[in-house]
Amino acid sequence: MSKNVLVLADVRDGELRNVSLESLAAATRVADGGAVTAAVFGSKAKDVVEELSHHGADKVVLVLDEKLDQYTTDAYFQAFKQVIEHVEPDVIFTGHTAIGRDVSPRVAARLGCGLVSDCTDVEVDDSQIVFTRPIYAGKAFVKKAFREGTVFATLRPNNIPALEADTSRSAVVEELEVQFAEDLLRTVVKDVVRKASEGVDLSEARVIVSGGRGVKSADGFKPLQELADVLGGAVGASRGACDAEYCDYALQIGQTGKVVTPDLYIACGISGAIQHLAGMSNSKVIVAINKDPEANIFSVADYGIVGDLFEVVPMLTEEFKKV
Ligand code: FAD
Repeated sequence: MSKNVLVLADVRDGELRNVSLESLAAATRVADGGAVTAAVFGSKAKDVVEELSHHGADKVVLVLDEKLDQYTTDAYFQAFKQVIEHVEPDVIFTGHTAIGRDVSPRVAARLGCGLVSDCTDVEVDDSQIVFTRPIYAGKAFVKKAFREGTVFATLRPNNIPALEADTSRSAVVEELEVQFAEDLLRTVVKDVVRKASEGVDLSEARVIVSGGRGVKSADGFKPLQELADVLGGAVGASRGACDAEYCDYALQIGQTGKVVTPDLYIACGISGAIQHLAGMSNSKVIVAINKDPEANIFSVADYGIVGDLFEVVPMLTEEFKKV
């Protein structure tokens, strides 16, 4: 049965995040001939219309209000709710990003809808939409289907491939004016202070080279950064490395850090504690470099290298430079 599906596009600094394109692919899977609508917020929303239509959006709803230029819970909540009431979708996708994780449950609760968070897959089975999500810190997966009503789903990045761009597609574009209850806009973003050298976004990186306490110092991360640069990837870390002040907590991967699903995860000097595995064990290919052959990280690795990371990592970098 055809479904109306809405995707909230996640735009940062005028750039569409990959997970929005992945959400469109998920939306196309479940729409079954129904309309796929993308909603984009902020005064520069028009800039991403083409990309959205090339990747599966049949319609794009623009809310061009300046109040939505920076994410705030209150403004997004009000705008998203009004877009949903306007589009009347059966299924709503957002990325499982800081924005999607914050706004989706709020609107779902207010509208009395169901929500499946952190989905890694979605399929239609016997005309039911079935969402897959990890449980027990990624040790198992559960499949969920809803008998009735509108459903929200937040999608974990890097799990559902985006559709190939089809430049012949063009979406119907609609500008929607939303009404804000000013007394409920309780926060204003005055300034955004970014960290220097942000490079590839960890949560969307296709390749992650991650360091643990085994890197021994902040300088010990340099060879990892070189390997990541050669592979076009990002550097991550275990909490052990963050606690030891070798790197910033923004790099932490795991249960209390970021959850990542890159195509390739290279763990260097990381023992493989359960809390670390919770953040990376669903990576497509895992390579572990550790001098202890008994290290638990080898239990989840597709390829294991027993050796000193300070010898192995530069060798890998040199080899990849030749490719
Ligand atoms: P270690 O366990 O000390 O391992 C270092 C490894 O490096 C060892 O295996 C060693 O053999 C190897 N090594 C040393 N030198 C070299 C070398 N030269 N070459 C190659 N290998 C070498 N941890 C996370 O990572 N993420 C989380 O989100 C997280 N959340 C937590 C939440 C809670 C509530 C708790 C209690 C813990 C959490 N932890 C988390 C911490 C976790 O339990 C581990 O303590 C941490 O992951 C260990 O980090 P590590 O593997 O870098 O260090």
